[in-house]
Amino acid sequence: MKILVAVKRVVDYNVKVRVKADNSGVDLANVKMSMNPFCEIAVEEAVRLKEKGVANEIVVVTIGPTAAQEQLRTALALGADRGVLIESTEELNSLAVAKLLKAVVDKEQPQLIILGKQAIDSDNNQTGQMLGALTGYAQGTFASKVEVAGDKVNVTREIDGGLQTVALNLPAIVTTDLRLNEPRYASLPNIMKAKKKPLETLTPDALGVTTSSTLKTLKVEAPAARSAGVKVKSVAELVEKLKNEAKVI
Ligand code: AMP
Repeated sequence: MKILVAVKRVVDYNVKVRVKADNSGVDLANVKMSMNPFCEIAVEEAVRLKEKGVANEIVVVTIGPTAAQEQLRTALALGADRGVLIESTEELNSLAVAKLLKAVVDKEQPQLIILGKQAIDSDNNQTGQMLGALTGYAQGTFASKVEVAGDKVNVTREIDGGLQTVALNLPAIVTTDLRLNEPRYASLPNIMKAKKKPLETLTPDALGVTTSSTLKTLKVEAPAARSAGVKVKSVAELVEKLKNEAKVI
């Protein structure tokens, strides 16, 4: 079985993001970039399926600038076999990303496609679902367990107030939730080996996909600064403040 994993280059989750002075977006100058955490979980799941003998090839794909090769190399060091970079410096919306991924699916014909449930920069939570619509494949979103059984994949989904298990006919799309697995760290020898693994670079044009956006970001704002807290001396003072200052009781 061939697995395709989509990974996104995002601002590292430890970085406190700064909004640009003109409110046009987030300042990316000299900011540490990493693989989106949910995509790390997607890579880990694919590697585990390969280790179990369920999969025999893992192709990892990203859409982004030349530097997004770094995230592909990380995925290769974690156990993916081959990388595909679709080079684009545009700010792409989810539909454009899903169309590009669909073109890669058509080319690679994977049996299983694993994505993160959401990218932590845009918080869109829609690329996997859109790819599901474009391909017509079954989708299991917010997966906390994935088991391939013959020509089906059973996906346990985290839903409000519980878990739901669905059986999807392959080929299928899975998006990962936080509890699916705990990603491993890449070892130094594997980081070295990853440098020699194949990495193909494509363009949206070469895939015949137009990426023009139907959406424009008007403004990005930082959350309002929180005012400093105060220490109260007694419960009575706390109740008084909650009643008369915060007006919440
Ligand atoms: P989103 O719908 O933007 O929240 O992203 C959900 C998932 O779609 C991510 O975790 C990735 O697996 C995939 N994805 C989104 N953007 C990209 C991208 N530029 N390149 C590759 N995969 C992406």
